[in-house]
Amino acid sequence: MGSDCLFCRIVAGEIPATIVRETDTTLAFRDIDPKAPVHVLVVPKEHYADVASLAQGDPALAGELLAAAATVAEDEGLLGDGFRLMFNTGAYGGQEVFHVHAHVLGGAPLGPMVC
Ligand code: C5P
Repeated sequence: MGSDCLFCRIVAGEIPATIVRETDTTLAFRDIDPKAPVHVLVVPKEHYADVASLAQGDPALAGELLAAAATVAEDEGLLGDGFRLMFNTGAYGGQEVFHVHAHVLGGAPLGPMVC
């Protein structure tokens, strides 16, 4: 994708972000507008528009993304009290940035999911 994609530009270091974890294939950074005390986004470095495209196109990378998200949750101290892992997908799912990203949310009770 590249220059048109916000998260590709964060991966490339062209747009600043507060990075909390990086692997060969994934990057995790704090959400610029946090919805919980801990709100980290985890993305694959390679561009896929959404989680369905990623799971179909590269299941191994999808697994690496989940593993990275779990490690972020552990590093942020969320495993004891729990956390929410979320992929907004497509227009009806409320996705705004079309580079797949896992939201890792926690640090306080989040309440029920609302639609
Ligand atoms: O799942 P969705 O696409 O709606 O989420 C996009 C997220 O990206 C939002 O939570 C927004 O705050 C975040 N964002 C960010 N840094 C940017 C632009 C958006 O963390 N520069």
